[in-house]
Parts: sequence; structure tokens; C-alpha cells
Amino acid sequence: MTKSAAPSTEYPGLFSPHQEPLPGALDGELLYSWCARFHRLSGNSKASTTSQMLFGHATTGLRHDFPGQLGYFGAATGGHLGTLQEIVQARTQFALHALFLDESTRRATESVFQGNDRSQLSRTLGLSRSGQVSLTPLKACPACIGEDRGTVLTGWWRMDHQWPSMYACLKHRCLLNVMANQGRAHWLQEWYLPVELREDQWAEHTEMGQSQVERLIHIARWTEALLHQRDIYFDATLLRHVYLYQAKARGWMTWDGALRFATLRAAFADSHRGLEALPGWEFIKEVGSVNGGFLGLLLRKHPGRRHPLKHVLLMAFLYEEPLDFYAQYENSKLILETEGPAALDRRLTDMQSRLIEMVESEGKSANASCLELGIPTTQGLRLLTRKNVAVHRRPRILTDALKAELEALLRAGTERDEIARRLKLRKAYVKDYLATQPELRNAWEQAAKVQLAARYRAHFLRVLEDNPDVPIKRIRRIGGNGFEWLYRNDREWLAENLPGIWRRPET
Ligand SMILES: [Zn+2]
Repeated sequence: MTKSAAPSTEYPGLFSPHQEPLPGALDGELLYSWCARFHRLSGNSKASTTSQMLFGHATTGLRHDFPGQLGYFGAATGGHLGTLQEIVQARTQFALHALFLDESTRRATESVFQGNDRSQLSRTLGLSRSGQVSLTPLKACPACIGEDRGTVLTGWWRMDHQWPSMYACLKHRCLLNVMANQGRAHWLQEWYLPVELREDQWAEHTEMGQSQVERLIHIARWTEALLHQRDIYFDATLLRHVYLYQAKARGWMTWDGALRFATLRAAFADSHRGLEALPGWEFIKEVGSVNGGFLGLLLRKHPGRRHPLKHVLLMAFLYEEPLDFYAQYENSKLILETEGPAALDRRLTDMQSRLIEMVESEGKSANASCLELGIPTTQGLRLLTRKNVAVHRRPRILTDALKAELEALLRAGTERDEIARRLKLRKAYVKDYLATQPELRNAWEQAAKVQLAARYRAHFLRVLEDNPDVPIKRIRRIGGNGFEWLYRNDREWLAENLPGIWRRPET
């Protein structure tokens, strides 16, 4: 119904962009927020008048997650906020969804934003059955609001804080305030701005302990990292494999590929306790049911399209660092492209024939082969005996030379997996050895931390080197930059050894 290039004369009597004061959009500002500030300047008394002016519709502009009629909006404001694609990508919640949409679906969705068909939008985003189409409440950080009082008097809604997976401010490491549920009847009625909200318009704070706040900060960090992966598409089937590989690495899968689902579910429930109280996160409760709620859906054979929040929660649960996840994902993609989909499954299940092949045809030792494949040695040996494969077992007792080598590697802080691989020992053996010697264990932990810090420092310096003259604020947004880790664990080094980075331009 609208033509994006329509001249402003098509909106007679309502408004002309040349006469109305159009505020500049702030960097990272939600579209709804800009409209709310425009509403104040326009002097309109009714919210619907402003929505009508900007969107040609009395309420669609008041939807803060996904407003419709953006073609109309673009024409009515003379492209003041950029193209439709730019607005959708930078000022609505679309960017998080886009990571999980293939190219053609992405384009189809962008065209849906031209109109105002909510059910078509939900269908295109694949959310019709997820029960999560409802609006995520508006959120704001109390400390950020305080800072805004000096500049933008009304405050503004930051895009960063509106994602459904965001309940913490990364700048201030605190919980976000959530706008109180106004009830369905009050939706789409007003242009709210954070500074102007009355006390009773904010929801009461959900009781959160320190570990819950830390978990929310972790999830927020993940959200931020993922959003910097522009132009990437995470395929649900590939993701499922990546999740399962990591579940296996975390010990939640038997060596022949059966998921220890009850244990995994319990671990998830444990680390997310209490978070089901957050608006939009109620579905977490279902993890306790037999089918495992969203975990069951994401890990089953045909995962289908799910709400991005669910993926973010699972990723952040399985992995500590986004960098590790990207590496696994790229690796799995490579396997898919070079060896085909069956190879992905084989990596999870078909370990028996691979073990026999390694020992029988490639002449590797049973211990080393089991280690490489992540098979418990006793089970591997049992299988090889049953299949009449000749096995040379290495002696269990360490020679003095091997012992000296083991201690040296431990004191250097070498990772246990790496030691096991190099010395052809079982991982559990190295672990047990450490457990019996507290002094050695301390030394190893210290050295390992130093090594890890060295890796993060080197990586971060490389990012700085690759991005000369880029302000530190933008450097921090580069996915997997290592800054957050250093900031948490190695702040002195950042401050002392890199005074130069603080002198980069602020914006
Ligand atoms: Zn803040």
C-alpha cells in the first residue's frame, strides 16, 4: 500500500518532514525510542496521532519489538533514519533472528516489515508455534539512565538492552529494570521514555542472587558477541551437531553417541535456577519435564526453527567462550561440505569401527586411539578384545623418565588433555595424579592461568594491530576480541601495559 519512494505530498495535511523537527537518531537507539522522542517534540497529545503520522497506522509504530509499515515510515520521514534494511537491522529486534535465517528468508522478512501483517511476520520468523510472539518488555539500565540525564533529558531506549536474551547491562554489570506489564489492554497506547516512567511503571525486581546475576551477564555477553557476527547464518541442523559435540566434550554423552539427557537437563536447570521468573523466559521451567522442553527440541533430529533466545541460552550454557563455539561451528561446516551429512553423525556415533580401524590397520596403540576418540579405555579395550583385535597394552606404572616429563609439563601449566595426548596417558590418570599432589596441583593451576592470560593478551594485541586507529569502544564490539576476559581477569595488565589503548579516541 505504500511506495518507498513516495514524495511527502502523499501525506497531505498530516505532516511534512521539512516543517517538523526530526530529532537525530542516537547510535544504537531503538526505533520506538526515536519515535517517542519525536512524539514529545511534535506536541501531539495522542500517541495514535504520532503513529498515524509516521506509520500511516494508529498503533503499529507503538510496537517496540517489530513495528510494521516501515515503507511508509521511510517515505514519511524522507529517509531520515536510513533505508528500510538499515532500520530493520539496527533498530528492531530483527538482527538476532537474522542470525538463524537463510538469505532468502531474511529478504522475505524484510519485505514483511513494509506491511503490517503480524501473523505473516511470525510465520516468516518461524515463531508461530513457539508461544513467544508476545512483546518482550522495554528494559533499561538504571545506571545508564542516570548518565543520560546530563545529555538526553527524556532518556532513551538502547537497542542493546532490548534483546530478549538481555537482562543485564554489560557496561555497568547490573540488572536491567523492566517495564511493568501494563496488561494487554494497555499495549500500544503510549510512547514511553525511561526517565519519565513513574516508580510503579517499573516491574518489581525479581530476587536474584549473585550467581544468577553472573549468569545473566554471561548470557548478555554471548548475545553481544553473536550480534557482531554479521552476515553469518547458523543452520539449525548444523547447530544441533555442534551442540551435541560439545555435550560430548562436557561428558553428557556416552562414547557411542547416546545423550545423557537427564544429567544434561539437571545441569541446565541447576545453573538457570530462578531465571524462569524473567518475562519471556518462562519456558525454561519445561526443561524439568521428561521431554526436556526446548533442550529436547534443539537437540532432536529435526530441530526446526526456534526462537533465537533458546539458541543463545543453550550456547551460553554449553560453552564458556563464543570463540570456541565459532571454531566448532566452522569445523562442522567444513565436515558437512567436504564429507557430507553422514560424516557429521558418524563423528557422534560410529566410534567402534573407527577404533578398530585405528588399532588394526593404522597400528596405533589402543590407549592412544581411545584417547583420540574420547572413548573410556576400559570400554575400548573390552570392545577390541571382543572383536579379536590384537592389542598392546602399555604398562600402568610410570617410569622415572615419564614421571619427570609429566611433572615438568604440569609445572609449565600444560593443559591436561594436551599432556595426556603427548605422553599417551589416560586423561583420568593425569587428573588423579594431580589430585594426590596438592603442591603440584597449585603450581599447575597458577601456570595454566598465566598461559591462558598470555593467549588472551596475544590475541587481543593482534586484534588491536589488525584495527589500527579504531576507537577502543568499537574494538570492544569485535566478536571474540578477548577484552572482556582480560577486563575480568587481567585488568592490571590492561591498565599498566597498554596505556596506549586508553588514549584511543573515545568514539
Ligand atoms: Zn548501564
